[in-house]
Amino acid sequence: LSLFFLSMAGASVKVAVRVRPFNSRETGRNAKCVIQMQGNTTCKSNAPAASAGKKHQTTEDSSFASQRQVYKDIGEEMLLHAFEGYNVCIFAYGQTGAGKSYTMMGKQEPGQEGIIPQLCEDLFQRTGENSDPDLTYSVEVSYMEIYCERVRDLLNPKSQGTLRVREHPILGPYVEDLSKLAVTGFPDIRDLMDAGNKARTVAATNMNETSSRSHAVFTIVFTQKRRDQMTSLDTEKVSKISLVDLAGSERADSSGAKGTRLKEGANINKSLTTLGKVISALAEMQSSKKRKSDFIPYRDSVLTWLLKENLGGNSRTAMIAALSPADINYEETLSTLRYADRAK
Ligand code: ADP
Repeated sequence: LSLFFLSMAGASVKVAVRVRPFNSRETGRNAKCVIQMQGNTTCKSNAPAASAGKKHQTTEDSSFASQRQVYKDIGEEMLLHAFEGYNVCIFAYGQTGAGKSYTMMGKQEPGQEGIIPQLCEDLFQRTGENSDPDLTYSVEVSYMEIYCERVRDLLNPKSQGTLRVREHPILGPYVEDLSKLAVTGFPDIRDLMDAGNKARTVAATNMNETSSRSHAVFTIVFTQKRRDQMTSLDTEKVSKISLVDLAGSERADSSGAKGTRLKEGANINKSLTTLGKVISALAEMQSSKKRKSDFIPYRDSVLTWLLKENLGGNSRTAMIAALSPADINYEETLSTLRYADRAK
């Protein structure tokens, strides 16, 4: 199995590891497999793994977690928490090419959709089954990109510049002027996702950057309104679902990085490092049953500041560490596992 959990139910952060199959570059370079999964634990082998004698390890597709399985094991549980009224957050961490976008967004072909489209479809499937006339739902989505600590709206082609992050005294941090679009069915969301993904690619090309250096945050605000027949009063349950495709975790190569690149590397690392700190502080808080959250450094990066309501407190978080199976990525794989280990 190439999907397993480092920590289980009850913990504030659920951590899963996903290994993708070899890609052609790795196969072309005769890469060896350095990941072995053993039941509920992971084992990195320094020596080439089981199939060392082979030219490369070709593992049957069935031994890799399918998109459906990943959704069933992680996405669905988080969606159910959202129905219960919790804020939820799922993020994918790992080096560029390890399978973060595939895991979160996936491809449009049948069976290839990632967590985001599957979760949206499931959300509307479930709300569509509701026959209680006193219960109504509303869904709003936004889609933004954080690059070098600046926020860009992916759903508003007219918004060129960067948006300001502010903090509402009651509602918490938010992005000023970010489009929040009401949607009534899965096709609406599908269109918005497509438009946002295109905007992300175009912006990346224009700025001579790749999307692997920015964080993409897809947010669903899900409101359940219940009317009390006796009093005619409405009660609302609002859940924020944040689905995050993080920037590639590879360190900016300090030898070649100068000027913008260096600054960019530092900024990307700042968000990822802060996220790591926030998550391990939350995990520690959970294990020691401390309830104080003042030492959690949410404000140290834009990403963690905006995810404040989705991490810790009244929220459920899942992290998927995406890994390449190949020995040529050993260092990055190790660093991803270390990061994941801090979160559990
Ligand atoms: P990242 O977002 O981490 O940079 P991608 O998700 O873009 O990486 O994945 C890189 C390539 O590997 C893509 O072509 C993607 O389709 C493919 N890929 C990633 N994970 C899987 C997987 N579990 N099964 C099949 N192909 C995958």
